[in-house]
Amino acid sequence: MKKIAIIGGGATGMMAALNINNHNFQVDIYEKNDVLGKKISVSGNGKCNIANKNLSLSNFDSNDIGFVDNIFKKFSYKEIKKFFETKGLLLEEVDDFVYPKSFDAKSVLSLLKKNLELQNINLFLSSKVNMIEKKDEGFLISFDANMQKKFYNKVLLSSGSKAAKHLGGSEIGYKIAKQFGHNIIEPYPVLVQFESNNKSCKRLAGVKIKSIFSLLCDGKIIAKQKGDGLFTKYGISGLNAIDISFIASKKILQNKKLALLINLLPEFDKNTLKSLLLKIKKNNPKYTIFELLNALLPIKISKEIIYELNIDSNKQLNQTSTKELKSIINIVLNWKFDIIKTHGFDYAEVCGGGIDVKEVNPSTLESKLVKNLFFAGEILDVVGKRGGFNLSFAWASGYISGINLGKN
Ligand SMILES: Cc1cc2nc3c(=O)[nH]c(=O)nc-3n(C[C@H](O)[C@H](O)[C@H](O)COP(=O)(O)OP(=O)(O)OC[C@H]3O[C@@H](n4cnc5c(N)ncnc54)[C@H](O)[C@@H]3O)c2cc1C
Repeated sequence: MKKIAIIGGGATGMMAALNINNHNFQVDIYEKNDVLGKKISVSGNGKCNIANKNLSLSNFDSNDIGFVDNIFKKFSYKEIKKFFETKGLLLEEVDDFVYPKSFDAKSVLSLLKKNLELQNINLFLSSKVNMIEKKDEGFLISFDANMQKKFYNKVLLSSGSKAAKHLGGSEIGYKIAKQFGHNIIEPYPVLVQFESNNKSCKRLAGVKIKSIFSLLCDGKIIAKQKGDGLFTKYGISGLNAIDISFIASKKILQNKKLALLINLLPEFDKNTLKSLLLKIKKNNPKYTIFELLNALLPIKISKEIIYELNIDSNKQLNQTSTKELKSIINIVLNWKFDIIKTHGFDYAEVCGGGIDVKEVNPSTLESKLVKNLFFAGEILDVVGKRGGFNLSFAWASGYISGINLGKN
Protein backbone atom coordinates (compact mmCIF):
# COMPACT_ATOMS: atom_id res chain seq x y z
CA MET A 1 0.00 0.00 0.00
CA LYS A 2 1.23 3.49 -0.84
CA LYS A 3 1.69 5.97 1.98
CA ILE A 4 0.99 9.66 2.48
CA ALA A 5 2.46 11.71 5.36
CA ILE A 6 0.79 14.88 6.53
CA ILE A 7 3.10 17.05 8.60
CA GLY A 8 0.97 19.11 10.99
CA GLY A 9 -2.40 18.23 12.44
CA GLY A 10 -3.98 21.67 12.32
CA ALA A 11 -7.02 22.79 10.34
CA THR A 12 -5.21 22.36 7.02
CA GLY A 13 -3.71 18.93 7.72
CA MET A 14 -6.98 17.50 9.03
CA MET A 15 -8.98 18.89 6.10
CA ALA A 16 -6.48 17.42 3.65
CA ALA A 17 -6.52 14.01 5.34
CA LEU A 18 -10.33 13.88 5.26
CA ASN A 19 -10.41 14.53 1.53
CA ILE A 20 -7.80 12.08 0.29
CA ASN A 21 -10.55 9.47 0.01
CA ASN A 22 -8.50 6.77 -1.66
CA HIS A 23 -8.24 3.33 -0.08
CA ASN A 24 -5.02 2.66 -1.95
CA PHE A 25 -3.26 5.09 0.36
CA GLN A 26 -2.41 4.83 4.03
CA VAL A 27 -2.57 8.31 5.55
CA ASP A 28 -0.48 9.26 8.60
CA ILE A 29 -0.71 12.63 10.35
CA TYR A 30 2.31 13.80 12.34
CA GLU A 31 1.57 16.37 15.03
CA LYS A 32 4.20 17.64 17.45
CA ASN A 33 1.63 18.64 20.08
CA ASP A 34 -0.07 15.96 22.15
CA VAL A 35 -3.42 17.03 20.66
CA LEU A 36 -4.62 18.02 17.20
CA GLY A 37 -5.72 21.52 16.21
CA LYS A 38 -4.58 23.62 19.16
CA LYS A 39 -5.11 26.82 17.16
CA ILE A 40 -8.65 25.80 16.26
CA SER A 41 -9.47 25.29 19.93
CA VAL A 42 -8.55 28.87 20.85
CA SER A 43 -9.75 30.48 17.63
CA GLY A 44 -12.28 33.28 17.85
CA ASN A 45 -11.76 33.36 21.63
CA GLY A 46 -12.96 29.77 21.87
CA LYS A 47 -15.99 30.41 19.63
CA CYS A 48 -14.11 29.58 16.40
CA ASN A 49 -14.74 32.10 13.66
CA ILE A 50 -14.64 29.17 11.26
CA ALA A 51 -15.02 31.08 7.97
CA ASN A 52 -16.13 34.28 6.31
CA LYS A 53 -18.90 34.56 3.76
CA ASN A 54 -17.09 37.23 1.78
CA LEU A 55 -13.83 35.70 0.60
CA SER A 56 -13.01 38.60 -1.71
CA LEU A 57 -9.33 39.13 -2.41
CA SER A 58 -9.16 42.48 -0.60
CA ASN A 59 -9.29 40.45 2.63
CA PHE A 60 -6.03 38.66 1.82
CA ASP A 61 -2.41 39.49 1.18
CA SER A 62 0.12 37.48 -0.81
CA ASN A 63 2.90 38.22 -3.27
CA ASP A 64 0.65 36.50 -5.80
CA ILE A 65 -2.96 37.31 -5.01
CA GLY A 66 -4.06 35.42 -8.17
CA PHE A 67 -3.03 32.24 -6.35
CA VAL A 68 -5.55 32.98 -3.58
CA ASP A 69 -8.19 33.65 -6.21
CA ASN A 70 -7.53 30.22 -7.73
CA ILE A 71 -7.91 28.50 -4.38
CA PHE A 72 -11.29 30.06 -3.56
CA LYS A 73 -12.56 29.58 -7.10
CA LYS A 74 -12.04 25.86 -6.52
CA PHE A 75 -13.33 25.77 -2.96
CA SER A 76 -15.45 28.78 -2.05
CA TYR A 77 -17.37 29.63 1.11
CA LYS A 78 -20.29 27.66 -0.33
CA GLU A 79 -18.17 24.51 -0.42
CA ILE A 80 -16.72 25.16 3.06
CA LYS A 81 -20.28 25.44 4.41
CA LYS A 82 -21.39 22.34 2.53
CA PHE A 83 -18.41 20.35 3.81
CA PHE A 84 -19.18 21.11 7.45
CA GLU A 85 -22.94 20.78 7.12
CA THR A 86 -22.55 17.39 5.42
CA LYS A 87 -20.56 16.31 8.46
CA GLY A 88 -23.40 17.52 10.68
CA LEU A 89 -21.81 20.76 11.89
CA LEU A 90 -24.32 23.53 11.31
CA LEU A 91 -22.96 27.03 10.85
CA GLU A 92 -24.28 30.36 12.10
CA GLU A 93 -23.68 33.47 10.02
CA VAL A 94 -23.28 36.70 11.98
CA ASP A 95 -23.13 39.26 9.19
CA ASP A 96 -20.21 37.92 7.15
CA PHE A 97 -18.55 36.21 10.13
CA VAL A 98 -19.31 32.49 10.37
CA TYR A 99 -19.25 30.32 13.50
CA PRO A 100 -20.30 26.80 14.42
CA LYS A 101 -23.92 26.91 15.62
CA SER A 102 -22.68 25.94 19.08
CA PHE A 103 -20.29 28.93 19.11
CA ASP A 104 -17.85 26.46 20.59
CA ALA A 105 -14.52 25.61 18.93
CA LYS A 106 -14.61 22.21 20.64
CA SER A 107 -17.54 21.19 18.42
CA VAL A 108 -15.42 21.75 15.32
CA LEU A 109 -12.43 19.92 16.68
CA SER A 110 -14.29 16.89 18.00
CA LEU A 111 -16.15 16.50 14.73
CA LEU A 112 -12.95 16.63 12.70
CA LYS A 113 -11.31 14.09 15.02
CA LYS A 114 -14.30 11.74 14.80
CA ASN A 115 -14.11 11.82 11.00
CA LEU A 116 -10.37 11.10 11.03
CA GLU A 117 -11.13 8.06 13.17
CA LEU A 118 -13.96 6.94 10.85
CA GLN A 119 -11.63 7.18 7.87
CA ASN A 120 -8.88 5.18 9.63
CA ILE A 121 -6.34 7.96 9.42
CA ASN A 122 -3.34 7.24 11.63
CA LEU A 123 -2.35 9.85 14.16
CA PHE A 124 1.18 10.26 15.41
CA LEU A 125 0.77 12.73 18.27
CA SER A 126 3.71 14.24 20.19
CA SER A 127 5.69 13.40 17.05
CA LYS A 128 7.84 16.23 15.85
CA VAL A 129 9.12 15.88 12.31
CA ASN A 130 12.72 17.08 12.15
CA MET A 131 13.75 16.35 8.61
CA ILE A 132 12.50 15.11 5.24
CA GLU A 133 14.89 13.59 2.72
CA LYS A 134 14.07 12.89 -0.92
CA LYS A 135 14.43 9.24 -1.91
CA ASP A 136 13.98 8.03 -5.50
CA GLU A 137 10.29 7.20 -5.33
CA GLY A 138 9.35 9.23 -2.27
CA PHE A 139 10.50 10.73 0.98
CA LEU A 140 12.16 9.61 4.21
CA ILE A 141 10.72 11.35 7.23
CA SER A 142 12.69 11.65 10.46
CA PHE A 143 10.64 12.33 13.56
CA ASP A 144 10.89 12.46 17.35
CA ALA A 145 13.95 13.12 19.46
CA ASN A 146 15.35 9.72 18.54
CA MET A 147 14.99 10.42 14.80
CA GLN A 148 12.85 7.44 13.83
CA LYS A 149 12.56 7.19 10.04
CA LYS A 150 9.66 6.21 7.82
CA PHE A 151 9.20 6.10 4.06
CA TYR A 152 6.32 7.84 2.26
CA ASN A 153 5.33 8.18 -1.39
CA LYS A 154 3.79 11.60 -0.94
CA VAL A 155 4.10 14.35 1.66
CA LEU A 156 1.93 17.32 2.58
CA LEU A 157 3.71 20.03 4.56
CA SER A 158 0.96 21.71 6.57
CA SER A 159 2.99 22.65 9.63
CA GLY A 160 1.70 26.22 9.71
CA SER A 161 3.60 29.41 10.39
CA LYS A 162 5.82 30.57 13.22
CA ALA A 163 3.00 32.57 14.89
CA ALA A 164 2.00 31.57 18.45
CA LYS A 165 4.74 29.13 19.42
CA HIS A 166 2.79 27.98 22.51
CA LEU A 167 0.08 26.62 20.18
CA GLY A 168 2.46 24.84 17.83
CA GLY A 169 3.86 27.69 15.72
CA SER A 170 7.18 26.64 14.23
CA GLU A 171 9.72 27.44 11.54
CA ILE A 172 10.36 23.87 10.56
CA GLY A 173 8.11 24.02 7.50
CA TYR A 174 10.03 26.96 6.05
CA LYS A 175 13.32 25.15 6.70
CA ILE A 176 12.17 21.95 5.01
CA ALA A 177 10.74 23.82 2.02
CA LYS A 178 13.98 25.78 1.68
CA GLN A 179 15.99 22.59 1.77
CA PHE A 180 13.95 21.44 -1.26
CA GLY A 181 14.92 24.63 -3.10
CA HIS A 182 11.79 26.69 -2.35
CA ASN A 183 11.95 30.43 -1.90
CA ILE A 184 10.66 31.71 1.45
CA ILE A 185 9.12 35.18 1.59
CA GLU A 186 10.30 36.56 4.94
CA PRO A 187 7.62 35.76 7.53
CA TYR A 188 6.25 38.58 9.66
CA PRO A 189 3.68 38.64 12.47
CA VAL A 190 0.15 39.75 11.56
CA LEU A 191 -3.04 40.19 13.62
CA VAL A 192 -0.85 41.33 16.46
CA GLN A 193 -0.49 44.15 18.99
CA PHE A 194 1.97 47.06 18.76
CA GLU A 195 4.81 48.18 21.02
CA SER A 196 5.12 51.93 21.57
CA ASN A 197 7.65 54.06 23.41
CA ASN A 198 4.94 56.55 24.38
CA LYS A 199 5.03 56.50 28.20
CA SER A 200 1.28 57.20 28.39
CA CYS A 201 0.63 53.57 27.33
CA LYS A 202 2.07 52.21 30.57
CA ARG A 203 0.13 54.72 32.67
CA LEU A 204 -3.08 53.92 30.79
CA ALA A 205 -2.55 50.14 30.83
CA GLY A 206 -5.88 48.33 31.04
CA VAL A 207 -8.00 51.18 29.66
CA LYS A 208 -10.22 50.08 26.78
CA ILE A 209 -11.96 52.68 24.66
CA LYS A 210 -14.12 52.86 21.53
CA SER A 211 -11.99 54.83 19.15
CA ILE A 212 -10.74 55.33 15.62
CA PHE A 213 -7.14 54.45 14.86
CA SER A 214 -5.52 56.20 11.89
CA LEU A 215 -2.34 54.55 10.71
CA LEU A 216 0.33 57.08 9.86
CA CYS A 217 3.07 55.75 7.55
CA ASP A 218 5.95 58.09 6.77
CA GLY A 219 3.68 60.99 7.70
CA LYS A 220 0.66 59.94 5.59
CA ILE A 221 -2.55 58.33 6.81
CA ILE A 222 -2.85 54.99 4.99
CA ALA A 223 -5.60 53.22 6.95
CA LYS A 224 -8.34 53.83 9.48
CA GLN A 225 -9.99 51.41 11.86
CA LYS A 226 -12.97 51.91 14.15
CA GLY A 227 -13.59 49.77 17.22
CA ASP A 228 -12.11 48.97 20.61
CA GLY A 229 -8.59 50.08 21.42
CA LEU A 230 -6.76 48.92 24.53
CA PHE A 231 -3.70 50.48 26.18
CA THR A 232 -1.18 48.04 27.63
CA LYS A 233 2.13 48.15 29.51
CA TYR A 234 4.05 47.66 26.29
CA GLY A 235 1.89 49.64 23.85
CA ILE A 236 -1.44 49.27 22.12
CA SER A 237 -3.78 46.32 21.70
CA GLY A 238 -7.49 45.69 21.24
CA LEU A 239 -9.35 44.69 18.09
CA ASN A 240 -8.49 48.02 16.46
CA ALA A 241 -4.78 47.31 16.76
CA ILE A 242 -5.13 43.68 15.67
CA ASP A 243 -7.16 44.71 12.61
CA ILE A 244 -4.90 47.55 11.52
CA SER A 245 -1.84 45.30 11.92
CA PHE A 246 -2.96 43.58 8.71
CA ILE A 247 -1.55 46.64 6.93
CA ALA A 248 0.92 47.97 9.52
CA SER A 249 2.98 44.79 10.06
CA LYS A 250 4.17 44.68 6.46
CA LYS A 251 5.16 48.35 6.65
CA ILE A 252 7.17 47.64 9.81
CA LEU A 253 8.96 44.87 7.93
CA GLN A 254 9.76 47.45 5.23
CA ASN A 255 11.26 49.76 7.92
CA LYS A 256 8.63 52.46 7.44
CA LYS A 257 8.11 54.98 10.22
CA LEU A 258 4.69 54.26 11.75
CA ALA A 259 2.43 55.93 14.27
CA LEU A 260 -1.18 55.66 15.34
CA LEU A 261 -3.37 58.72 15.66
CA ILE A 262 -6.08 57.82 18.13
CA ASN A 263 -9.44 59.56 18.09
CA LEU A 264 -10.93 59.01 21.55
CA LEU A 265 -14.30 60.49 20.63
CA PRO A 266 -14.98 59.07 17.17
CA GLU A 267 -18.41 60.66 16.89
CA PHE A 268 -16.88 64.16 16.90
CA ASP A 269 -14.74 66.16 14.50
CA LYS A 270 -12.80 69.31 15.34
CA ASN A 271 -15.73 71.68 14.84
CA THR A 272 -18.38 69.63 16.63
CA LEU A 273 -16.09 68.98 19.58
CA LYS A 274 -15.14 72.64 19.76
CA SER A 275 -18.82 73.67 19.83
CA LEU A 276 -19.52 71.11 22.54
CA LEU A 277 -16.64 72.25 24.75
CA LEU A 278 -17.57 75.91 24.34
CA LYS A 279 -21.17 75.09 25.26
CA ILE A 280 -20.08 73.21 28.40
CA LYS A 281 -17.75 76.10 29.24
CA LYS A 282 -20.56 78.64 28.84
CA ASN A 283 -23.03 76.66 30.95
CA ASN A 284 -20.50 75.59 33.58
CA PRO A 285 -17.77 78.22 33.86
CA LYS A 286 -16.68 76.98 37.29
CA TYR A 287 -15.94 73.44 36.11
CA THR A 288 -12.25 72.52 36.15
CA ILE A 289 -10.52 71.23 33.01
CA PHE A 290 -10.41 67.82 34.64
CA GLU A 291 -14.17 67.88 35.21
CA LEU A 292 -14.75 68.88 31.62
CA LEU A 293 -12.65 65.99 30.30
CA ASN A 294 -13.93 63.45 32.77
CA ALA A 295 -17.49 64.12 31.66
CA LEU A 296 -16.50 62.79 28.24
CA LEU A 297 -13.69 60.29 28.83
CA PRO A 298 -12.57 57.65 31.34
CA ILE A 299 -10.87 59.10 34.42
CA LYS A 300 -7.41 57.62 33.65
CA ILE A 301 -7.45 59.11 30.16
CA SER A 302 -8.62 62.52 31.41
CA LYS A 303 -5.77 62.62 33.94
CA GLU A 304 -3.23 61.53 31.35
CA ILE A 305 -4.30 64.20 28.86
CA ILE A 306 -3.88 66.89 31.51
CA TYR A 307 -0.46 65.45 32.41
CA GLU A 308 0.60 65.30 28.75
CA LEU A 309 -0.50 68.85 28.03
CA ASN A 310 1.06 70.05 31.25
CA ILE A 311 -1.96 72.12 32.22
CA ASP A 312 -3.33 72.83 35.66
CA SER A 313 -6.13 70.33 36.24
CA ASN A 314 -7.80 72.66 38.73
CA LYS A 315 -7.97 75.58 36.35
CA GLN A 316 -11.57 76.63 35.90
CA LEU A 317 -13.06 76.78 32.43
CA ASN A 318 -13.66 80.52 32.68
CA GLN A 319 -9.85 80.94 32.99
CA THR A 320 -9.02 78.56 30.14
CA SER A 321 -7.51 80.07 26.99
CA THR A 322 -8.62 79.26 23.43
CA LYS A 323 -5.12 77.84 22.86
CA GLU A 324 -5.57 75.42 25.76
CA LEU A 325 -8.98 74.31 24.47
CA LYS A 326 -7.46 73.82 21.01
CA SER A 327 -4.68 71.63 22.39
CA ILE A 328 -7.24 69.55 24.31
CA ILE A 329 -9.31 69.08 21.15
CA ASN A 330 -6.22 68.09 19.22
CA ILE A 331 -5.09 65.43 21.67
CA VAL A 332 -8.60 64.00 22.11
CA LEU A 333 -9.09 63.62 18.37
CA ASN A 334 -5.52 62.92 17.24
CA TRP A 335 -3.40 61.52 20.04
CA LYS A 336 -0.18 60.32 18.47
CA PHE A 337 1.50 57.09 19.50
CA ASP A 338 4.70 56.12 17.69
CA ILE A 339 4.93 52.42 16.92
CA ILE A 340 8.34 50.85 17.39
CA LYS A 341 7.45 47.30 16.42
CA THR A 342 4.77 44.64 16.61
CA HIS A 343 4.51 42.64 19.82
CA GLY A 344 6.12 39.75 17.93
CA PHE A 345 5.47 36.27 16.53
CA ASP A 346 4.59 34.69 19.88
CA TYR A 347 1.59 37.00 20.28
CA ALA A 348 0.49 37.07 16.65
CA GLU A 349 -2.50 35.08 15.42
CA VAL A 350 -0.98 34.53 12.00
CA CYS A 351 2.04 35.25 9.80
CA GLY A 352 2.40 37.03 6.51
CA GLY A 353 5.08 35.67 4.19
CA GLY A 354 5.97 31.98 3.94
CA ILE A 355 6.53 29.61 1.04
CA ASP A 356 6.50 31.56 -2.23
CA VAL A 357 3.27 30.52 -3.94
CA LYS A 358 4.72 31.18 -7.38
CA GLU A 359 6.53 27.85 -6.94
CA VAL A 360 3.37 25.95 -6.00
CA ASN A 361 0.79 24.70 -8.51
CA PRO A 362 -2.45 26.54 -7.60
CA SER A 363 -4.63 23.76 -9.04
CA THR A 364 -3.12 20.95 -7.00
CA LEU A 365 -0.90 22.60 -4.35
CA GLU A 366 1.94 20.34 -5.43
CA SER A 367 5.41 21.85 -5.45
CA LYS A 368 6.51 22.94 -8.92
CA LEU A 369 10.04 21.90 -7.94
CA VAL A 370 9.57 18.52 -6.24
CA LYS A 371 7.07 15.92 -7.44
CA ASN A 372 4.72 14.50 -4.79
CA LEU A 373 5.55 17.23 -2.27
CA PHE A 374 2.52 19.39 -1.41
CA PHE A 375 2.07 22.55 0.66
CA ALA A 376 -1.12 24.02 2.12
CA GLY A 377 -2.38 26.38 4.79
CA GLU A 378 -0.63 29.06 6.72
CA ILE A 379 2.81 27.83 5.74
CA LEU A 380 2.17 29.47 2.35
CA ASP A 381 2.66 33.16 1.60
CA VAL A 382 -1.04 33.92 2.09
CA VAL A 383 -2.51 35.81 5.01
CA GLY A 384 -6.02 36.99 5.72
CA LYS A 385 -7.64 39.65 7.85
CA ARG A 386 -9.30 38.85 11.17
CA GLY A 387 -12.81 37.46 10.64
CA GLY A 388 -12.53 33.81 9.61
CA PHE A 389 -10.38 34.43 6.53
CA ASN A 390 -7.37 32.43 7.70
CA LEU A 391 -9.36 29.35 8.61
CA SER A 392 -11.20 29.70 5.28
CA PHE A 393 -7.86 29.51 3.53
CA ALA A 394 -6.81 26.54 5.67
CA TRP A 395 -10.02 24.61 4.79
CA ALA A 396 -9.88 25.49 1.08
CA SER A 397 -6.18 24.80 0.56
CA GLY A 398 -6.40 21.71 2.78
CA TYR A 399 -9.24 20.39 0.63
CA ILE A 400 -7.45 21.00 -2.69
CA SER A 401 -4.23 19.40 -1.48
CA GLY A 402 -6.18 16.41 -0.09
CA ILE A 403 -8.05 15.74 -3.32
CA ASN A 404 -4.81 15.87 -5.31
CA LEU A 405 -2.78 13.82 -2.84
CA GLY A 406 -5.45 11.15 -3.25
CA LYS A 407 -4.97 10.83 -7.02
CA ASN A 408 -3.24 7.59 -8.04
C1 LIG B 1 -5.15 32.83 19.14
C2 LIG B 1 -5.56 32.59 17.71
C3 LIG B 1 -6.89 32.80 17.34
C4 LIG B 1 -7.28 32.62 16.00
N1 LIG B 1 -8.59 32.79 15.67
C5 LIG B 1 -8.98 32.61 14.37
C6 LIG B 1 -10.35 32.71 14.00
O1 LIG B 1 -11.24 32.88 14.82
N2 LIG B 1 -10.65 32.57 12.67
C7 LIG B 1 -9.70 32.32 11.71
O2 LIG B 1 -10.03 32.23 10.53
N3 LIG B 1 -8.41 32.16 12.05
C8 LIG B 1 -8.03 32.29 13.35
N4 LIG B 1 -6.71 32.09 13.69
C9 LIG B 1 -5.77 31.68 12.65
C10 LIG B 1 -5.97 30.20 12.31
O3 LIG B 1 -6.05 29.46 13.51
C11 LIG B 1 -4.80 29.67 11.46
O4 LIG B 1 -4.65 30.47 10.32
C12 LIG B 1 -5.05 28.23 11.03
O5 LIG B 1 -5.23 27.42 12.16
C13 LIG B 1 -3.87 27.71 10.22
O6 LIG B 1 -4.03 26.35 10.03
P1 LIG B 1 -2.80 25.43 9.61
O7 LIG B 1 -3.28 24.03 9.77
O8 LIG B 1 -2.28 25.86 8.29
O9 LIG B 1 -1.68 25.73 10.68
P2 LIG B 1 -1.72 25.35 12.24
O10 LIG B 1 -3.05 25.46 12.79
O11 LIG B 1 -0.63 26.16 12.85
O12 LIG B 1 -1.33 23.82 12.25
C14 LIG B 1 -0.03 23.37 12.02
C15 LIG B 1 0.23 22.22 12.94
O13 LIG B 1 1.52 21.70 12.64
C16 LIG B 1 2.13 21.31 13.85
N5 LIG B 1 3.58 21.27 13.64
C17 LIG B 1 4.42 22.33 13.46
N6 LIG B 1 5.67 21.88 13.28
C18 LIG B 1 5.61 20.52 13.32
C19 LIG B 1 6.59 19.49 13.20
N7 LIG B 1 7.87 19.77 13.03
N8 LIG B 1 6.18 18.20 13.30
C20 LIG B 1 4.87 17.90 13.52
N9 LIG B 1 3.92 18.84 13.64
C21 LIG B 1 4.28 20.13 13.54
C22 LIG B 1 1.69 22.38 14.84
O14 LIG B 1 1.80 21.95 16.16
C23 LIG B 1 0.27 22.63 14.40
O15 LIG B 1 -0.66 21.85 15.11
C24 LIG B 1 -6.31 32.23 15.03
C25 LIG B 1 -5.00 31.99 15.41
C26 LIG B 1 -4.61 32.16 16.74
C27 LIG B 1 -3.19 31.87 17.14
